[in-house]
Amino acid sequence: MRYIGREVEVDGGVRLVMESALSARDRVGVQDFLLLDNYTSEAAFIENLRRRYKENLIYTYIGSVLVSVNPYKELGIYSKPNMERYRGVSFYEISPHIFGLADNSYRALRTARKDQCILISGESGAGKTEASKKILQYYTTTCPTRDNTHSIRERLLQSIPVLEAFGNAKTLRNDNSSRFGKYMDVQFDYKGAPIGGHILNYLLEKSRVVHQNHGERNFHIFYQLLESGESSLLMRLGLDTTSPQHYRYLVKGNCPRVSSINDKNSWKAVSKGLTVLGFSEEEVEELLKVIASVLHLGNTLFGEDEYGATHFTTETQLTYLTELLGVEGSALSEALTHKKIVAKGEEMIGPLTLEQALSARDALAKAIYGRTFTWLVQKINQSLAFQDEVYYTSKCSSVIGLLDIYGFEVFQSNSFEQFCINYCNEKLQQLFIELTLKSEQEEYEAEGIGWESVEYFNNKIICDLVEEKFKGIIAILDEECLRPGDASDITFLEKLEDRLGGHAHFVTHKLANGKIRKAVGREEFRLLHYAGEVNYNVNGFLDKNNDLLYRNLKEVMCQSENSIVKQCFHPDELTDQRRPETAATQFKLSLAKLMEILMSKEPSYIRCIKPNDAKQPGRFEEVLVRHQVKYLGLMENLRVRRAGFAYRRSFEAFLQRYKPLCPDTWPNWQGKLSDGVSTLVKHLDYKPEEYKLGRSKIFIRFPKTLFRTEDALEIKK
Ligand code: ADP
Ligand code: MG
Repeated sequence: MRYIGREVEVDGGVRLVMESALSARDRVGVQDFLLLDNYTSEAAFIENLRRRYKENLIYTYIGSVLVSVNPYKELGIYSKPNMERYRGVSFYEISPHIFGLADNSYRALRTARKDQCILISGESGAGKTEASKKILQYYTTTCPTRDNTHSIRERLLQSIPVLEAFGNAKTLRNDNSSRFGKYMDVQFDYKGAPIGGHILNYLLEKSRVVHQNHGERNFHIFYQLLESGESSLLMRLGLDTTSPQHYRYLVKGNCPRVSSINDKNSWKAVSKGLTVLGFSEEEVEELLKVIASVLHLGNTLFGEDEYGATHFTTETQLTYLTELLGVEGSALSEALTHKKIVAKGEEMIGPLTLEQALSARDALAKAIYGRTFTWLVQKINQSLAFQDEVYYTSKCSSVIGLLDIYGFEVFQSNSFEQFCINYCNEKLQQLFIELTLKSEQEEYEAEGIGWESVEYFNNKIICDLVEEKFKGIIAILDEECLRPGDASDITFLEKLEDRLGGHAHFVTHKLANGKIRKAVGREEFRLLHYAGEVNYNVNGFLDKNNDLLYRNLKEVMCQSENSIVKQCFHPDELTDQRRPETAATQFKLSLAKLMEILMSKEPSYIRCIKPNDAKQPGRFEEVLVRHQVKYLGLMENLRVRRAGFAYRRSFEAFLQRYKPLCPDTWPNWQGKLSDGVSTLVKHLDYKPEEYKLGRSKIFIRFPKTLFRTEDALEIKK
């Protein structure tokens, strides 16, 4: 018997079963969930994933969506010869693979001339970043080259280790967790050769610079520098002790070394990457000075005199900071221990308490690191930018965008960061709904087949709850951040209750009146996200949203002689009367821009699943997987895709494959293609409810019809 979509492993690779007489053991589920008989059953869905995972078949389609399960081991399926196998081959002819999806987008770009984007989602550690790297490797390896595009390929690839060093860290979930969202455009010329790139970065987790949870680390670069920086460099940076444990910003997680991480090799890769990307030696030195200054800030301590005034107690740190940041020592020490107040039109200097000084110090460290990261991305963008403007505009290039962004997050305790991340996921889900349903609908319309409406949950109501002007949670948060006087995290919560009480997706302790099963704490609000319920603790919301740096610290930084710090702190900031956008509003605006970018492109989706929390190969934990299947919306996705028809194919391809089954179509059908298909399916005894003929495609409702036809073909042969 022949089964389409069943695969076997051959010579370490996987290929579709084309021969008969395969034992049942070799057939591993279905390669496309659309072909599942019982497509509404979550159990059947998960069983299909599990069976395939056990056979190292980590990829499965839902139509054109690729579902990927992290193998946590090298599978040997990403070689160059394997890339070649996927070039120009359509989905159904070859086993599911990320290269298949990458190639499909590339071909659509080349033939339909429509910009593409690939959206990768999934929780931390599910394999998003690895997936985006595989795609980039696929394009840089298989696409044609233009005379000088070698260097752009190299630069595209080298941007990865550099950004990972500064933006990734070891967390409990992932030893190489990206702590920022990333959208990368790869630009191609009219011949399909990669010619440039551009990166947009989102919401770096700056709080990690000053604090890490137990078992986690700060950003990789700190450890790489200490472990492998040449001793003369470390001397210049004042890092006379190379043990991470010596630096307060690195000890919180109590986890200086990680077995899966080789800081020495990474350091080499980063150094090489920076060189390839065109950073000069001086720039690298300035960059590392900034990194070192953050470590010195962490070791900067204060004392309090009998009147409660704060002063520096770590003079060496001050000397290093002055040197590395190129600022005046006395100005810096004053700015770290005092604040400027304007009273009755006069500037007055008041001392900070010890606690305030520590928090000003941390705020400075976060600001320096965060802004330097943005500087780094801009600098990389300059290096990836396509140089030949005239050529670029005249020959009209095209773009494939890759989005590798944080997945839905639910922790024991959730704060401002999770609020932003989950809001981002709501937006992406909204986009997915609009684009998938729209494209389904468009295809049906184009084919002249009636659109059958499908029930699904539209999460627009939750997006509005968060982002609506004047009324949404972000607006209320901003309002509290601006309000002088007694505004606090708790008054923010009260205002939420006041304004949003009664909203179907918003609950608090008070509103619930003890009527809900799982309690909401007194300092929490709960959002009923499309993916599930999350309680957010309001503590710190106002501070994080304000993200303020004392004015006198900014003034000092604006005078820095470190070329990077100088670019990061612009004097305009001091004279600008307008209040800077809050963190949440900035994020909201950048997400709106991202949605616009994505809407203008044709999307493909990769849904990554993490099979266990232990980062172990071969372990498939059903409960964990079920949870992700739910919040990735996979069952709903499948239902929407299947609601109409399980399978569709062009008349031509259908006839080509099945024409031996009917004497009238064999060996060749001479008339109109649609008549040929019509004749063929009548001969095959398809019932009217089993299929529909569109303008150029046949739509088959049930997989069993297709399997029956495949079997007939097998017997015939
Ligand atoms: P995410 O970006 O979703 O947080 P990553 O892409 O960083 O997750 O993956 C986490 C880890 O899982 C990687 O460091 C790697 O060890 C492993 N991994 C992920 N995808 C693959 C894959 N396709 N093959 C082998 N290992 C993988
Ligand atoms: Mg990642």
